[in-house]
Amino acid sequence: MTMMKKIGLLGSTGSIGRNVLRVAETHPERFCLAYLTANTRVDELIAQALKFRPQTAVIADEGGYASLCAGLAGTGIRCEAGAAALADIARDGEADVVLNAIVGAAGMLPTLAAVEAGRDVALSNKESLVMAGELINHICRTSGARIFPVDSEHSAIWQCLAGEQDRDVEKIILTGSGGPFLRRDLSTFDAITPAEALRHPNWSMGAKITVDSATMFNKGLELIEAFHLFHLDPSRMEILIHPESIVHSMVQFRDGSVKAQLGVPDMKVPIQYALTYPEHLLSDWPRLDLAAAGTLHFEQPDLRRFPALALARTALEKGKTYPAVFNMANERAVGRFLKGEISFPQITQAVRTALEAHEALDPLSREDLLFLCKLN
Ligand code: NAD
Ligand code: MG
Repeated sequence: MTMMKKIGLLGSTGSIGRNVLRVAETHPERFCLAYLTANTRVDELIAQALKFRPQTAVIADEGGYASLCAGLAGTGIRCEAGAAALADIARDGEADVVLNAIVGAAGMLPTLAAVEAGRDVALSNKESLVMAGELINHICRTSGARIFPVDSEHSAIWQCLAGEQDRDVEKIILTGSGGPFLRRDLSTFDAITPAEALRHPNWSMGAKITVDSATMFNKGLELIEAFHLFHLDPSRMEILIHPESIVHSMVQFRDGSVKAQLGVPDMKVPIQYALTYPEHLLSDWPRLDLAAAGTLHFEQPDLRRFPALALARTALEKGKTYPAVFNMANERAVGRFLKGEISFPQITQAVRTALEAHEALDPLSREDLLFLCKLN
């Protein structure tokens, strides 16, 4: 007999959020939804709520509140609105696990609220850990809350570490596809359009992470995320380009043995594992066919092509609030690039400038972190 797990889903209308709901409907005997939240897509939130029948639905954009109430009238589902309601529900909502699939720094306060309340978090919102990793780990140590990675690379490392001892680990190797511009002529990077950057070769994802994959800021964020999840010195974390996105990451042990986790690029697998760890549940999703894949390729990342990787290491080595600035400057620059206000290479330049100008604040202070979120 297994217990029903109640998932509190933050960001249910996004690419990850929708995949979480697919996992939940694959195993109706194992999962139900305690609450669903969205930013602006109120119609989709209403449709999801009518289907999954959570106790509460939250729309962050208060302009959507009246529509939400109208759409769910008579169902008994409670409706709430506003950014503060997200942190409130993450803290107080009756969930066994909070799955944070919000994009960007908007996910930080809900993660903090959940772990403060001692709630386990299945974390897709990597920006939370990049911004506030020290504070989140600090709170987890006293509240007993745990962070379960959803990000495919970190799920891979977590799976490779199962049954192993920390002292046996020599290094971890994060793989990344290299995105759409792995082979593009460097002299044409100024001309890269948002539409080109939004075309990822292997994964279908939200806009921000897709651009982050093109610049490889995503891998930089994941390096910092890995630091807070696995507590390894940065010198023992490597990044390797792997265009096929089949090997999701690897762990090398001190006897030279290397373990890798492989699979088709499908976020449902790491999402489900974060919800069922240490169990692997039966699912009928597509299986990996290595004979059909034929050949797997690996290469060292070129730091001239992907300067974000060097900036991520700088931010991680400087520590304190440098990673938070690394994240915020990137988030803002990606927004501006998508609006056509700056060029693709200017994303990296904006982050470099912000890191150079920054003077460290207190990484354990929520006020200091919030201050960085609001800086323009
Ligand atoms: P998305 O843009 O598709 O969805 C984002 C979700 O967050 C939506 O539900 C949206 O309503 C909500 N949201 C956006 N801004 C908000 C705000 N200000 N306040 C409250 N809610 C807000 O993004 P995604 O691709 O699903 O990515 C979500 C997170 O998961 C990101 O941190 C991303 O890096 C991470 N991630 C995504 C993938 C993937 O395959 N998509 C893989 C690994 C990690
Ligand atoms: Mg990833």
